[in-house]
Amino acid sequence: MTRNSENKNVGADNANGANDANHVDKESGAKHDVFTVAKRSQIMSKVRSTGNASTELRLIAEFKERKITGWRRNSKIFGRPDFLFPKLRVAVFVDGCFWHGHDCRNTKPKDNAEYWRAKIERNQRRDRAATERLTALGYRVVRIWECEFQKKRRERLEEKLAPIVEAFERWKAETKKSATEPT
Ligand SMILES: [Zn+2]
Repeated sequence: MTRNSENKNVGADNANGANDANHVDKESGAKHDVFTVAKRSQIMSKVRSTGNASTELRLIAEFKERKITGWRRNSKIFGRPDFLFPKLRVAVFVDGCFWHGHDCRNTKPKDNAEYWRAKIERNQRRDRAATERLTALGYRVVRIWECEFQKKRRERLEEKLAPIVEAFERWKAETKKSATEPT
């Protein structure tokens, strides 16, 4: 009698378990229109990486136009610059305006404002640390804002690319010289 009621309980538990599973499924099916902060953050970080990819491609086009070569991507050096020119000792970052807190943007998220502000400040601190460290290692650090690829900010982009062009020309002249000089 006792055993029977126990068995019954086990059976009831299993049934509950199955019901729970169904419940979760239903919930996750409805999740796509209401995101938690964590989920939103996960989505936004995916947006960030793909968003960066397109601005990085645009920068590559700018390098090619100027016949600049010798960059490396995915360098593991401190701060992980988007482009590293080891021979020129130049590190280039392409910063997304929202994520890195550029003041060009007047649209700030109203929802979870405090959450985003803290996140952006953390990125800015990390950016500063990377610039300081790389500068100390003898790199010239160039930080390009995403918005500077817009036509109206073209001049600003030119200004930022100028030192890279110069470093490249200098390096080219030096290697040419050492190649022709007798050793
Ligand atoms: Zn900007």
